[in-house]
Amino acid sequence: MSTSSVPLLLDGQWTHPKTQSFSPVHNPSTGEVIGQVPLCGPAEVDAAVQSAQRAYATWSKTPVYDRVAILFKYRHLLNENFEELSQIIVRENGKTIEEARGDMRRGLEVADYACSIGELAKGEYLPELASGIDAHTSREPIGVCAGITPFNFPAMVPMWMYPIAIACGNTFVLKPSEKVPLTANRLAELFLQAGLPDGVFNIVHGGRDVVNALCTHSGIASISFVGSTGVARHVYTEACQHGKRVQSAGGAKNVLLVLPDAKPDATLQAILSSAFGCAGQRCMAGSLLMGVGNGEELREQVVAAMDELVLGNTYDDPAAQMGPVIDGQARDRLFARIEDAKSDGLTLARDGRQNVPADGFFVGPTLVDQVDPERDIFRDELFGPVLSMLHPKTLDEALEWFNRLPFGNAATLFTQDGGAARKFAREVECGMIGINIGVPAPVALFPFSGWDESFFGDLHVQGREGMMFYTRQKTVLSRW
Ligand code: NAD
Repeated sequence: MSTSSVPLLLDGQWTHPKTQSFSPVHNPSTGEVIGQVPLCGPAEVDAAVQSAQRAYATWSKTPVYDRVAILFKYRHLLNENFEELSQIIVRENGKTIEEARGDMRRGLEVADYACSIGELAKGEYLPELASGIDAHTSREPIGVCAGITPFNFPAMVPMWMYPIAIACGNTFVLKPSEKVPLTANRLAELFLQAGLPDGVFNIVHGGRDVVNALCTHSGIASISFVGSTGVARHVYTEACQHGKRVQSAGGAKNVLLVLPDAKPDATLQAILSSAFGCAGQRCMAGSLLMGVGNGEELREQVVAAMDELVLGNTYDDPAAQMGPVIDGQARDRLFARIEDAKSDGLTLARDGRQNVPADGFFVGPTLVDQVDPERDIFRDELFGPVLSMLHPKTLDEALEWFNRLPFGNAATLFTQDGGAARKFAREVECGMIGINIGVPAPVALFPFSGWDESFFGDLHVQGREGMMFYTRQKTVLSRW
């Protein structure tokens, strides 16, 4: 098994930096070290920015059909290598193969969307704005764009960013999570194979030193960040102070609210997949379960279904339905939060610390019951397979509790009552809402629209907003 150093992509060349500092990449299912990622710094960031600046001079003037021709070839290669990429995701992230395919599919849809950039980004024209004066607008690229991404979606989150940015005529520097660098490298390799000119897409590996160097480098026009709220706020502040355009997505505490008239089987399936899919490591994962009216019965059904979930090595065992968390630190942190809940007098309706595989970084599905809005576990993002349950008496009480949360990512209501659904969608204070949808994640055509502590900035990733973020508008008035 290779434990070799993971290369950077600078100016179209795979290179190994001089740094002596590395961080191990694990297979979370086994705990085995499968690579060493270099922890780069300002020198490598500067080399990447210079490469991207050189490429920008030509790429920003490349005709749209020529840019899109490369993107079409790229999406063809991504489809051809879909299974191999999904396997890389399983190996370095630990999610199941089906979840890894979903990760790839959602990313691919953004590459598909980017192929329509000519239609999407063309401007407006109005003749005779005044006598003899015509006006038109155009959307121009902004320069060198940077993306900083988390570990939980090794393909999808980077692809929220670079296909659109590059389609718009920008060049790009990606800093993938140091925990999952291998998927990003393979995605880039295929882009080069599709004919992308050297320097249009660059990768610098590392952690906070790379992030801070990107946020302060004068050659970078924009930062797209996705990760936890503390870092998202830091990146937003730092990069804004350095004059950059910033979109910075943070953490979440998403609610699954069940009314007594919800369809039982479909609701149960949606709760399980939302709370425990990807081992609870989705920013859209349901982490607060609220049962209005029939909470006790719902809890028993959920716990019985949790007992049936097969926890295991997703890399070798096709029977595994739920994989590990990303690393030993995440497992230990989650174990400590479960212990804290117990010490606080909360009920562990299911304790996921028991009967977990010995190798790898496993936490079993956990349900903490009798949580109330005053508890830390209500407010803090845990980011793992730990679901907290609350028992509001009414929809109004549930809404009032939800709207106290600092985050504004997602909330779902399960019901067959259209009036309740409408009220929920109107009054819940967050950016992504599901009605009978466990994971209401917008796909490529729509913005990923978190609010409050879940997003810092204005224009979100994906959809038309993604294109707007990566372009600036020019208005021309002419009289001949
Ligand atoms: P993270 O914040 O630890 O890391 C994200 C990126 O920031 C990584 O590239 C990392 O190297 C870098 N980083 C980490 N600490 C830093 C620091 N102190 N200074 C500068 N850079 C730093 O997040 P993670 O653990 O990789 O991912 C999980 C988090 O991402 C969760 O909070 C989840 O909710 C969030 N997330 C949000 C969305 C969304 O759309 N809102 C999507 C996916 C994940």
